[in-house]
Amino acid sequence: MHDSHIHMAMEPLKTNYEEIVKEFIEIGGEHILTQGTDILDFDDNFRIAEKSNMLKPNIMHVALGLHPTYFEEVTVQRDLEENIFERAQKEMAKFVELFEKNKENVSAIGECGLDYYHFSINQTYSDDIKEQLKEVQKLMLREQIKIALENSLAVSIHARDVMGSEECMEDTIRIVAEEGRGLLKGSFHSYTGSLKQLEKILDLGFHIGFNAIITYRSGGNVREILKNTPIERMLFETDGPFLPPQSVRKKKNIREKFAQPKDIREIMDVACEIKSIPMGKLETITDSSYIALFLKI
Ligand SMILES: [Zn+2]
Repeated sequence: MHDSHIHMAMEPLKTNYEEIVKEFIEIGGEHILTQGTDILDFDDNFRIAEKSNMLKPNIMHVALGLHPTYFEEVTVQRDLEENIFERAQKEMAKFVELFEKNKENVSAIGECGLDYYHFSINQTYSDDIKEQLKEVQKLMLREQIKIALENSLAVSIHARDVMGSEECMEDTIRIVAEEGRGLLKGSFHSYTGSLKQLEKILDLGFHIGFNAIITYRSGGNVREILKNTPIERMLFETDGPFLPPQSVRKKKNIREKFAQPKDIREIMDVACEIKSIPMGKLETITDSSYIALFLKI
């Protein structure tokens, strides 16, 4: 059993990681891939992984990446007048430096990708700024894919569209195809696109990361995606602390409402039912995908 996409450097996972990882090990957990999103969380991710690997060797791996919304945070959210491209390039230079220093301990590039939803809801941005944010995200995704290829690492891809649009997913698929040149591997995490786009992603040789959305009443579209994804191309993830499974969502205490690695069991239960496959078999197949993508042997 694995959790291929979680943010262990975010609270409350960060403070309680030891107990959380132990509970995952207790229910048979094998691997966790913790994802970086900005420059600031890299140290915590490495520290938590190192300590967790003392609890069980090889339990935790680190993905380093710059999340698409990070480029909005470090540019227009700080200063609307600043040159978005120059500012983003500076962050990328910092990223490269940190990556080079730590690359022995990096198992994947992520999370990276495109997010057209986040900036679209901000009413203070002009259309021109929104266009620039799109372009800068695309550039930075290309950069991160190049780093992944140069270092034979898989990627964890985020793509989020504005409701009713397919532009972001289309752009992401095109960039992965162009830059990846058939050599790039990885997962489209928390995929919520169309079945037609799913086919394109599978044709690229990519995996699909399924999380607790399949446990939600509203998750019918993602359950449909799961039905259409071969088991060999499936990965499981919690995206913790976000997206708690249905049983956790129902809890009264707000502080308990977060996703953690042990929730993978509930997610996989639903997947077993949809795919009519026993848990053991699903676990064996998807764990070997995790190992093939993220473990350096
Ligand atoms: Zn994430």
